[in-house]
Amino acid sequence: MSEFYLKDKEEVLKELGRGEQGLTSKEAETLQKQKGYNELVEKEKKSVIQIFLEQFADFLVLILIAASVISAFLGDVESALVIGIVITINAILGTVQHQKAEKSLNSLKQLSAPNAKVLRNGDTVILPSREVVVGDVVLLEAGDYICADGRIIENASLKVNESALTGESLAVDKQDITITKEVPLGDRINMVYSGSFVTYGRAKFVVTDIGMDTEVGKIATLLKNTADRKTPLQINLDQFGKKLSIVILIVCALLFVMSVIKGDSVIHAFMFAVALAVAAIPEALSSIVTIVLAFGTQKMAKEHAIIRQLQAVEGLGSVSVVCSDKTGTLTQNKMTVIDIFVNETNKDVKNVLFDLELERKLLVYSVLCNDASNVDGVKIGDPTEIALVDLMERGNSQGENDFGSVTQVREKYPRICEIPFDSDRKLMTTVHQIDGKTISITKGAVDVILEKAISIEMKDGIREITSEDKENILEMNHTYSSEGLRVLAFAYQEVEESKACKVEEENLIFLGLVSMMDPPREESKAAVEECKMAGIRPIMITGDHKITASAIAKQIGILNDGDRAVEGAEIDKLSDQELINFVDDVSVYARVSPEHKIRIVKAWQEKGNIVAMTGDGVNDAPALKQADIGVAMGITGTEVAKDAASMVLTDDNFATIVKAVENGRNVYSNIKKSIKFLLSGNTAAIIAVIYASLAGLAVPFAPVHLLFINLLTDSLPAIALGLDPHSVDVMKEKPRPKNESILTKDFLLGILSEGLIISIMTMAAYYVGLKNGTTETARTMAFATLCLSRLVHGFNSKSKKAILFKKEIINNKELFGAFFIGFILLNAVLLIPSLSGVFEVAPLTTQMLFTIYGLSIANLFAIQAMKWVKVNILKVDQ
Ligand code: ATP
Repeated sequence: MSEFYLKDKEEVLKELGRGEQGLTSKEAETLQKQKGYNELVEKEKKSVIQIFLEQFADFLVLILIAASVISAFLGDVESALVIGIVITINAILGTVQHQKAEKSLNSLKQLSAPNAKVLRNGDTVILPSREVVVGDVVLLEAGDYICADGRIIENASLKVNESALTGESLAVDKQDITITKEVPLGDRINMVYSGSFVTYGRAKFVVTDIGMDTEVGKIATLLKNTADRKTPLQINLDQFGKKLSIVILIVCALLFVMSVIKGDSVIHAFMFAVALAVAAIPEALSSIVTIVLAFGTQKMAKEHAIIRQLQAVEGLGSVSVVCSDKTGTLTQNKMTVIDIFVNETNKDVKNVLFDLELERKLLVYSVLCNDASNVDGVKIGDPTEIALVDLMERGNSQGENDFGSVTQVREKYPRICEIPFDSDRKLMTTVHQIDGKTISITKGAVDVILEKAISIEMKDGIREITSEDKENILEMNHTYSSEGLRVLAFAYQEVEESKACKVEEENLIFLGLVSMMDPPREESKAAVEECKMAGIRPIMITGDHKITASAIAKQIGILNDGDRAVEGAEIDKLSDQELINFVDDVSVYARVSPEHKIRIVKAWQEKGNIVAMTGDGVNDAPALKQADIGVAMGITGTEVAKDAASMVLTDDNFATIVKAVENGRNVYSNIKKSIKFLLSGNTAAIIAVIYASLAGLAVPFAPVHLLFINLLTDSLPAIALGLDPHSVDVMKEKPRPKNESILTKDFLLGILSEGLIISIMTMAAYYVGLKNGTTETARTMAFATLCLSRLVHGFNSKSKKAILFKKEIINNKELFGAFFIGFILLNAVLLIPSLSGVFEVAPLTTQMLFTIYGLSIANLFAIQAMKWVKVNILKVDQ
């Protein structure tokens, strides 16, 4: 195996049989077929059979199986069979749900899989990293994850963080040199390795190893499936479920002892106790949450928000502060140059000739110190820079302004070296050969450039820059900014050719300003309004100038009377403690560095808030991780930012965050509906059994009845409630407090009262049966009423308010489907004579059947009336 780092790049390219132009799609396809995908092999996934079998591994199901085997031995083969069938159907349902949830989560994972910029057929294309093959030429820039191992073939100040491989947290300076002696991995500066990421600069590399052959592949051996991490809500529910289970098991044990003392057979008493335990213990809670969350994320993905961590969906519901970037998120990121300023005068650039030498110079320099391109109308690059390319093209189209095409200008004055833009410095510099001189051109924020300028170029030549000049320029900057325009300053200096790549951004000659417009997105204003209505504080955090930021913030309603706009530098003067009090009335932070972002998030969190924070650059990753909901930009965001975020916006739009919060709140509210539905139904069964036992009546249900309800007819409405149509009303409420448990006192009282009403109807049916028939008839009626009442109760559970006469009650077709399936199953059991033996039901008269229907529907009216009283008179928030 050849050590690529010991060879020069021509040798490497030759050995791989490829040129600097990369591969053709065809070559890549063949290689990919031969060598497979560029990915680390995951531990084998569970098979369907395994998942199916796991459904039986539940403690209660195991007891149930044991109980049915024993009863079969004692001669009751029929019950054993029915229980077996019911458990199997339940397991099938569980497997299908598991698979569906898994599938939607997997498709989500794919949506947020990393990409790479690769040369194919000579053009740059963006591909999923897994499709990269050996011999591909990959382009890197700050914020990219390195997708494979490779040898650098072109380098512009590339710095790479290789801590995942070497443990070294400082970024390594990479160079396109040949290394002559063997060195450890961390010193192979002409190579890049998969699993590390670019913190600065640009480069091209040719892929030498992919997948498991990469250095990280060798140490990773088999990548473990990321463990299914439970969300806080699931943990909360699991704990609650456990406590409840213990109480229920004790109650069941007591009932068992009492039945045996009363003379019941041990096996019968045991079967009943087990069935009641199965009926009462809410073992499905946590899995219902997974299913509802999984479906919720699918809806969100369709609405441009890709969830990378399930817990984010829950967290979104309680977000109380949204810190958003300006450019591209609140604005359109469609920049157009409006005005330029040279030689102490400004000029509207629409339909104007660039006749002044200085203007022409500014234009030429603006496309040289620039990485954007416009190839046949396809614009690639930073919108700020695209605007400058557009400006020159506009200039060209105006008759006498013949600069030549942007490509021609760039070829005429070739770039020798560069210092890439970064949002900390707010500057970018490129060095060119211009008319026999070596000129370094710097563009960036006006304040930063002015600090570094010692001279100014005017119509009649270069002279020292005076404080008056600076005031003039700052005044112009102020005028532009107050109109919400983004301003860039240009400066340059002549350097010695030998120092072209050691240039410093100091002692500059000021050239001029360019101002551009980036209008707010149309939907931003409404989204800000909605945020406020929902009790969420929108905050703008931007690298741009304070006045520009404030102008835009005012237009969209983020900055209102009494709010303040401050610069990042002001935060530097404050301690963390002081910052906590400071953040309250600040709505706009300008000239912010990524470190400021972390401090702002922390300050809001200290105040008890759940904070969502947007970010796109590689330096934003720590702030995205610190935020409760880190939101990365899908279009302009770097791979590193996306990786650190819990949500990625595929349209980079602020309004999408607000929509995601709405979805998060709705998902949470739907989960609450499902839980309430399940627990109130279970409570009804328990109350009925305890009542019968205290009143000295025969138990109102046979074990098979409880299993039928709990394992078959109950889970479908619970899932359907999880899919309940979303409502915009959730945005009229305040955010859910951070640590609020789902199981509040009012919520539990709601479950108890609804359970009580259902149990009253159930026992009423029992008495009717007892009066008009045998104990079996009474049981049958109690069972059927409980089963149907719970199906009807699905409609009650749709809202905490009374909705009987509102359209809302009929807007969930899944719930109707679940109701009808349950209704048909129940009637089949009641009416098909061959099933009656198996399900221990007695024959019913038509009158009895209608009594069951009537009592079940009565629940709807009774519970709706109770909700109305609770909401409108008692003002209880359940
Ligand atoms: P936001 O943080 O809301 O996205 P932003 O895009 O203005 O706002 P940065 O990209 O950090 O924030 O830019 C900060 C400043 O750096 C800008 O105000 C501008 O003056 C300057 N700047 C932006 N892009 C470039 C560039 N490509 N070259 C040189 N300077 C730039």
